[in-house]
Amino acid sequence: MMNSLEIVALPAFADNYIWALRARGGAVAVVDPGDAAPVLAYLAATGTQLAAILVTHHHADHCGGIDDLLARHPAPVYGPALEAIDGVDRPLADGDQVALAGLGIEFEVLAVPGHTRGHIAYYRRGMLFCGDTLFGAGCGRLFEGTAATMHASLARIRALPADTQIYCAHEYTQANLRFAAAVEPDNAAIRDRVADTAQLRAAGRPSVPSTLAVEAATNPFLRWDAPAVIAAAQAQLGRPATDPIEIFAAVREWKNRF
Ligand code: ZN
Ligand code: FE
Repeated sequence: MMNSLEIVALPAFADNYIWALRARGGAVAVVDPGDAAPVLAYLAATGTQLAAILVTHHHADHCGGIDDLLARHPAPVYGPALEAIDGVDRPLADGDQVALAGLGIEFEVLAVPGHTRGHIAYYRRGMLFCGDTLFGAGCGRLFEGTAATMHASLARIRALPADTQIYCAHEYTQANLRFAAAVEPDNAAIRDRVADTAQLRAAGRPSVPSTLAVEAATNPFLRWDAPAVIAAAQAQLGRPATDPIEIFAAVREWKNRF
């Protein structure tokens, strides 16, 4: 039953979202708690119990709150096996299943390296928690991976069902859309999304989750094979190119300078 799981965005820092998944019985799992305070406030306000912590990668804005949470709410902590993260006691690799007994749900682990070397995402039918890999109209910076690595990770995500909700970890959509519009000035879906996003943000609401269908239509980092994106990348490179990785790399580097 869809309504047996409620998913809430808990804002943290300047632009992070900690996702709280709450089952009907009151068990809560949180994804990427960079700060404990918003989670503790949520648990107190809702009278719920922390049942699990899920982490996507080692950056402090995603895992900095683990210790403070565990001090008050002992819970299993899932995270990437390839990264050293304080508090993680359930190391995960690609293809692993995460059964959250208290919530009655299960996730599949996808290795999505690129932003960091061991970055993982949590997938179940209809939803993807992807940390800093894919953003609203954008993607994470390549801190520990090559363009080829990140492209492969994004290609895996793009192959998921189009109605998959994309729960990313930052509110970056508006700035990302300004870049997307520069890459594809004639893309009507981007124009629509600019308007939709402005409305949501003006109302103080998160611009995420979006769906994979929306990202596939508007996110330049999932559009390495769209003719307009290829043309824009070629203009940046100053030479012909069609290789998907080369197109992706050119767009990613352009964004770094944008
Ligand atoms: Zn990060
Ligand atoms: Fe982050």
